Amino acid sequence: MSQPNIALIGLGLIGSSLGHALKKNKLAAHISGYARSAATRDKALELGFVDSVHDTAAEAVIDADIVFFNTPLSVIKQLAEEIVPRLKDNAILTDVGSVKAGVLKELTPLLEDRVHFVPGHPIAGTEQSGPEAGFAELFEDRWCILTPDENTSLIAVEEITKLWRGMGSDVAFMEADHHDLVLAITSHLPHLIAYNIVGTAAQLENDTRSEVIKYSASGFRDFTRIASSDPVMWRDIFLANKDAVLEMLGRFSEDLTALQAAIRRGDARYLEDVFTKTRGIRQSIIEAGQDTDSPNFGRDK
Ligand code: NAP
Repeated sequence: MSQPNIALIGLGLIGSSLGHALKKNKLAAHISGYARSAATRDKALELGFVDSVHDTAAEAVIDADIVFFNTPLSVIKQLAEEIVPRLKDNAILTDVGSVKAGVLKELTPLLEDRVHFVPGHPIAGTEQSGPEAGFAELFEDRWCILTPDENTSLIAVEEITKLWRGMGSDVAFMEADHHDLVLAITSHLPHLIAYNIVGTAAQLENDTRSEVIKYSASGFRDFTRIASSDPVMWRDIFLANKDAVLEMLGRFSEDLTALQAAIRRGDARYLEDVFTKTRGIRQSIIEAGQDTDSPNFGRDK
C-alpha cells in the first residue's frame, strides 16, 4: 500500500498521539477523525493532528484504507457494526484496546469476508485523557503488541506492523489470551491496587480526620498518579479481562498473605529476600530501557 488514508475513531490521548505520530513520520495521505462530541472533534482539527473531522463514524471511514479504534473498549463493537458496511473492500480495521481476546471475538463475525481486523495494543500511555494529552513521541521505543489469529490476513498484519514501526515502536506478536494474562499482572492488577489503596486512604482520612493526603510520601503519591487514570477506560478493562484479572488477584492475595504472616512472626529473612528479588526486577526494567533510573522518576521534588 502506498501512503494510506487513515481514519481515527476516538481522538483522546491515544487517538491524538496516533495523529501526531502519523503526521510527524509522514505515514498517511489523509487522516480523518471522529469522536463522540463536537468539542473533541473541533479541538482535534484546531490542534491539526487530523486533516478532516466528520459528524459520524460512518462518514469518517468512507475513503479509509486503515481505521484505528481508539475509544473505550465497550463501544468498539457498536462502532464496528456502524462502519463495516461503509468500508472499501480490503480495508483494514485495527484497535489499541488494552484487552484483546474479547474484541477479536466480537469483531470477527462482523467483517463480511471483505475487510480485515488486526487487533493491537501499544504498551504506551499516560494517566492523561483527551485530545490535548497526545504527543507524537508517545509510541517511540515502546512495544506495540499485535494479536492476530490464524484467520487474520498476513498482508493486513504487515501493513499495521509497518505503521507501528514507522511511529518508532517495536512490534511483538502474541495470542490474544496470552496478551490478556500478561497484561493482567503487568498493568491491570497494579491499577486495581492503586485504585484500592488510594480509595482506602481517602476513606481513612474521612473516617479519622487524619492527614493522609497532606503528608503523602512518594510511595502513596506514585499510587495516586496511577489511580487518576480514566475511570471509564479502566472500568471497561476490568470487565473485559475479568478471568485473567481474577486469576492474578488470587495469586497476589496468596503472596500478600505470606508477607502478612512474615511480618506477624517477625521473619526478617523472608521479608528481606522478597524485597531483594523485587529490587532486581526494577533493575532489569531499567536495563531493558523501559524506565529511567533517575531518582524519584525524574521528578524535581
Ligand atoms: P481518552 O483519552 O479518554 O479518549 C477516548 C476517545 O474515545 C475520546 O475521543 C472520546 O470522545 C471517544 N469516545 C468515547 N466513547 C465514544 C463513542 N461512543 N463513540 C465515539 N467516540 C467515543 O482515552 P484513551 O486513553 O485515548 O484510550 C483509548 C483506548 O486506548 C482505550 O481502549 C484504552 O484501553 C486504550 N489504551 C489506553 C492507554 C492509556 O494509557 N491511556 C494505553 C494503551 C491503550 P469524546 O472526547 O467526544 O468523549
